Amino acid sequence: MPATKETAARAFWLAGRQATGEDTLEVTSPWDGRPVGTVSVPTDAQVEEAVAAATAVGEEFAATPAHVRAAALDHICGRVTERAEEIAELISAENGKPMKWARGEVGRCVSVFRLAAEEARRFNSGTAQRLDTDAGGAGKLALTRRFPRGAVLGIAPFNFPLNLCAHKVAPAIAVGTPIILKPAPATPLSGLLLGELLAETELPAGSWSVLPVPNDRMPALVRDERLPVVSFTGSAPVGWSILDSAPRKRVTLELGGNGAAIVLGDYASEADLDFAAQRIATFANYQGGQSCISVQRVLADATVYDRLVPRIVSAVEALRTGDPSDSATDVGPLVSEEAAKRVESWVEEAQSAGAKLLTGGTRDGATYAPTVLENVPADTRMGCDEVFGPVVSVASVEGEQDAYAVANDSPYGLQAGVFTHDVQAAFRAQRALEVGGVIVGDVPSYRADQMPYGGAKQSGVGREGVEFAMEDYTYERVMVLTGL
Ligand code: NAD
Repeated sequence: MPATKETAARAFWLAGRQATGEDTLEVTSPWDGRPVGTVSVPTDAQVEEAVAAATAVGEEFAATPAHVRAAALDHICGRVTERAEEIAELISAENGKPMKWARGEVGRCVSVFRLAAEEARRFNSGTAQRLDTDAGGAGKLALTRRFPRGAVLGIAPFNFPLNLCAHKVAPAIAVGTPIILKPAPATPLSGLLLGELLAETELPAGSWSVLPVPNDRMPALVRDERLPVVSFTGSAPVGWSILDSAPRKRVTLELGGNGAAIVLGDYASEADLDFAAQRIATFANYQGGQSCISVQRVLADATVYDRLVPRIVSAVEALRTGDPSDSATDVGPLVSEEAAKRVESWVEEAQSAGAKLLTGGTRDGATYAPTVLENVPADTRMGCDEVFGPVVSVASVEGEQDAYAVANDSPYGLQAGVFTHDVQAAFRAQRALEVGGVIVGDVPSYRADQMPYGGAKQSGVGREGVEFAMEDYTYERVMVLTGL
C-alpha cells in the first residue's frame, strides 16, 4: 500500500531525538497530488542546538571503537533489508519514482551501509614510514593516522531521497564524525525514516541530526564554521554557490550532468545494436530522466547510426508510463508539474531551433512522455544544459575523435558510456573524455556505491563512494617518533 498522510506533523531528528518546530512542510505525491505527509520544520534555535550538540560530541564520537560504529552500520543495513518494501513505497510515494526503481534504491542503500560497516573495521590502520633514508632521519619513524575534520553538513537532493542521504551518513558513522543531514524539501520523508533507524543504534545522541531546514536558511548553516565539511549533492548553481560562500571548508560537490552514450563503429552486430538501444532507452528515462547520470545525448558512429536510431525509438516507445506504485511502470511523473513544464519548454525550444522530434514530446500534468530528438543544436538548453527529464537527443559522429570532441563540448563532465568491444578504444576513451567516469560497454548511468564517483568541469569537485567520502571527512596526521 502506498504511504498515506499522517494526521500530525512528523517530527525531525535533533541530536538523536525527535523534536518538532513551529512550521510545517507538506509532502505531496508528484503522481496524483495526494498528501503523503506533513513534516515539522526546525526553528533557528533548534538548528543551533543540533550544531552545538554535533560540535560537543566530536571527540567522544571519534573515540568510539570501530566495532561499535560498525555494529550500528550493520544494524541499519539489516533494518533497511527487513523494511525494504515499505521503504520503497515511501520513496515512490514522495518522489514519484516507479516501484521497480524505488526497490533498486533501497538495495543500494543496504549496500552503502554494508560497505561502510566493512570499511569502518578496515579504515585507519595507519602507515609506518622509516625516515632514516638520509642522515637527518636516523632513528626516526613516521606513523600516520586519519582524524575527523569535524562535523559534516550533508545536503541531499530529491532524486535518490534515501540512498544519497545514506551516502552522506554512512561514511560519517564509519569514521566517527558527527553529521547534520539536510534532506530535500520535496522528499524529506526518506531521510527522516533513516533517522528512525539511526535512533535504534547506540551512537552518541549528538552525533547525528536530520533537519529539514528551508532553503532560505541554508546559507547561514553552510557558512557556520563549526561544520568544517560540507558534502553536497544537487544542482550545479546551488553547489557552486556553496563553494563560493565557504571557500575554506572541505566541500564536496556532486552536481549535474548531461551524460553521453557513445556507440562506436565496431558495436555493429544486430545483438550489439539491440542491446545498446535497450540500455539507452531504459537509462534515458528511468526515474523520468531525473538522474545525474541519465543518458541525455547519444553520439553514434555514422556507420551504425541509421540502424541504431529506429531501435532506440521503438525501445523508448515500448516503455510503460504511468502510476509509480504499479510494479510494471517504467516511467513515472517528474518531481512536479513545474519540472515537466520546464522540460516541455526545452524540447519546444530545441524543435524551434531545428531539432527533429522522433517520438514523445507530450505532457500530461507532471508526466512527460519519453522523448527522442534528433540533431539538437548545441546552443539550445537541451543541447548544452542538464535536462533532468525523459528526453534523449541522438546525433551521428564520424569516428572516435569526433565522438569524444562532441561529448566534451559540454560544460558538464560527470560520466560517459562507450559501447565498444575494442579494449584499446576503451583506454583511448578514458584518456580523451573529460568526465569523472567512463563506463565501457554500457550507458553512463552505472554507479556502484564503492567506486569513486564524481564529476569534472561543472559537474563537481571531489569524489563520493563510501571509502572516498571517509577520506574526505578525515585528514591524515603524522606522528614522528625520534630516538629509536
Ligand atoms: P537542488 O540543488 O535544488 O537541491 C539540492 C539540495 O540543496 C536540497 O536539499 C536543497 O534543499 C538544498 N539547497 C537548496 N538551496 C540551498 C542553498 N542555498 N544552500 C544549501 N543548500 C541548498 O537539487 P535537486 O533539484 O534536489 O536535485 C537535482 C540535481 O541534483 C540535479 O542537477 C542532479 O544532476 C543533481 N544530482 C547529482 C548527483 C551526483 O552525484 N552528481 C546525484 C543526484 C543528483
